Parts: sequence; C-alpha cells; structure tokens
Amino acid sequence: MNAWKHFCTITRHKNLVLAGCFKIGLYKQGLLHDLSKYSPTEFIVGCKYYKGYMSPNNAERMDRGYSSAWLHHKGRNKHHLEYWIDYDIPSKKNGDDTNGHSAMAGMKMPINYVCEMLVDRVSASKNYLKDKYTDRSALEYYNRSIDHYLINEDTRALLEYLLEMLAVKGEKETYSYIKHQVLKGKVPYEKQKLDALKDALHVPV
Ligand SMILES: [Zn+2]
Repeated sequence: MNAWKHFCTITRHKNLVLAGCFKIGLYKQGLLHDLSKYSPTEFIVGCKYYKGYMSPNNAERMDRGYSSAWLHHKGRNKHHLEYWIDYDIPSKKNGDDTNGHSAMAGMKMPINYVCEMLVDRVSASKNYLKDKYTDRSALEYYNRSIDHYLINEDTRALLEYLLEMLAVKGEKETYSYIKHQVLKGKVPYEKQKLDALKDALHVPV
C-alpha cells in the first residue's frame, strides 16, 4: 500500500534531519521538522500521488495544476525559503517604478531556519543519492536550481557560504562551525561580509 511507502519515505527523511539538527544544537527544530507532512491534508495527497521516482507534490501539480500539499506545507514550515516570500517595502527600491505597489520578495530568514534549511538539503541529497552522496552534493543541487529562487540577498549569501564550506571542509567541521559560531551570532549575517568569508574558504592557509 502506498500509505506505508509514503510514511517510510517521509520518516526516513525526518530521521536524517533530526540527527543533523541535533549535531548543530537545534533540538526543538529537529523534533518538529516537517511534522505537517503527517497531517491529513499533506499525508493523504502524498499517498495518492506516491510514485517512488518523483515527489508526490510534482505529481499532484501535473494532475491538478497546483499542489495543495505543498501550499499547505510551505505555509507552515519556516525552514522553507518559500515561507518567507512576502510583499517588499516599496520605499526600499530606488527609482520606484511600482506606483506604490509592492513586489513579492524573499524576507531575511532568521539564522536558525537557514541552518535547518541546510540540514534539510543535505538530508534530501543523502536520501536521493544514497552511496553517490558526497559533501559537494547539496551545493551541486543548489547550483542547478538557484536561478528561480526568490530569496533575500543576505539569506542567499549565508546559505551559499555554508554550502561551500560543506563542500570544501566536510560535514563535521561545518556542523561544528554552525553550532558554535553561526548559531551563537558570531558570524555577520550580511551579504558583503559573507561573500568575503566564502572567498576566503579557498585561500590556502
Ligand atoms: Zn519541509
């Protein structure tokens, strides 16, 4: 029955995220991660469109024209950048050509949710690639889909810095850095400084 297979798929992912979040000290987020996938609204759709080779959300999209499960999911789970898409403040734009109307934009995500998003991406890559997974996998996936992300520039810089560090230095060092530096507020959460830190990853010591 698809219900059992779908349950195993989401639980396998949830357990990996749980382990990752505990390594970086995000205990509560690790426990609560993606809990809404077990709600009837998301779970029933997940079973109905279970394929095994593609996400049920995509299958639902192709069938209905939109994914009710995803819309429900991204509105409740703050580790998704889509949760943080909202109207931008028009006054921030120079040469306001919007006639006072605000465009949609990515808001600056709180640091703890950016870190949960990283663990989510690492876990999804591990599940998907199995023994082909390497420390570069999450970065490679990100690079393939970055073009259509609506994401705040500081948030993007932090995510890119951490993905790059993971690819260069590995999971143990990166997760320890996240736990003791990033989540302790010791790393500037600002594009220019983060881009400089990212470039420094490649300077031989
Ligand atoms: Zn999620």
